[in-house]
Amino acid sequence: MSDTPVSVGQMRGLIKQARGAENVGLGMIPKPRPGPGEVLIEVYATGICGTDLHIQADEYPSQPPMVMGHEITGRVVEAGVGAEEHLGKRVAPETYFYTCDSCAACRAGRRNLCLARQSIGTHVNGGFATHVLVPARNLHEVHESVGEHAGALYEPLSCVTQALCDPAVASPGDTALVVGPGAMGNLTAQVLRAQGARVTVSGTPADRQRLDIAASLGLEVVESGELERVTPEDGFDVVADASGNERGIDAGLRAVRRGGHYVQVGLTGRPIAVDIDLICLHELVVTSGFASTPRSWRRLERLIAEGQVVLDPLVSDVSPLSEWQTSFARTRRADGLKLLLDPRMDTVA
Ligand SMILES: [Zn+2]
Ligand SMILES: [Zn+2]
Repeated sequence: MSDTPVSVGQMRGLIKQARGAENVGLGMIPKPRPGPGEVLIEVYATGICGTDLHIQADEYPSQPPMVMGHEITGRVVEAGVGAEEHLGKRVAPETYFYTCDSCAACRAGRRNLCLARQSIGTHVNGGFATHVLVPARNLHEVHESVGEHAGALYEPLSCVTQALCDPAVASPGDTALVVGPGAMGNLTAQVLRAQGARVTVSGTPADRQRLDIAASLGLEVVESGELERVTPEDGFDVVADASGNERGIDAGLRAVRRGGHYVQVGLTGRPIAVDIDLICLHELVVTSGFASTPRSWRRLERLIAEGQVVLDPLVSDVSPLSEWQTSFARTRRADGLKLLLDPRMDTVA
């Protein structure tokens, strides 16, 4: 990190400079000004996501150069024409910077599937920076019960509600297993519980700390070696994988009861080998979700307001942008739960 004075109109950000593995580092870019219908957010925190690690490793498509980061919370500090009502509000934005709004997916309210979609942190500048520019229509006000940093978990929760709600994958009385106790797994477990399921979260011995956090939220937890012992005789009604791990996914597919429901939440970042015959032989219903929709954001806002999902206990660490390498490396080895970067902690703005 350089100590060079920063000229007005410039801001620091964590930038993927070019395609290929790595090519990621701190750099200066012009601070944007909001146009009509746009706002500038002063970033309070942006979460480090598995997708960011995949972008770093070039395992997830991105359009560099761009500032990374899409799990953002902050305050609206500048508003363009028509967006003035948002000034001063504490917000979390949806991730779409641009969608065509005319294709079949867009017209069905599924902007996440628009082929022309341009998202913050993958196509255009995202949230690992002091400020980020977003369309005002993407804003959601953060509930007063949610802490200043934990608002960064709205976006991952919106992906979970996209995968689990509409229609609800679990019904009251169902047994559910969530494979992987990371932030996505924890949120998945909380949403399944809100749907009425009795939820067990599984993880490896290395996940002990993460399992303890799940247990502290009242969820049942089990180490993967013990999974068979706690699996109902005919299997779980619902299994959701949030590990993105080949062995986890395989174990998850085997743990669903015949005719049960399997949900893929985690990304593997590469093709894997699993026994797909199980889907036929056990007549499984397999679903997933990609990113979020306005509807999945409405679901999460309801769950937060009703206290059915809590976010603050998931924030394990908050660091300045300058420590991004340590925080990325820790996320990669599943050390901590949700690690956030807060650009206000950097000594040079
Ligand atoms: Zn994410
Ligand atoms: Zn479209």
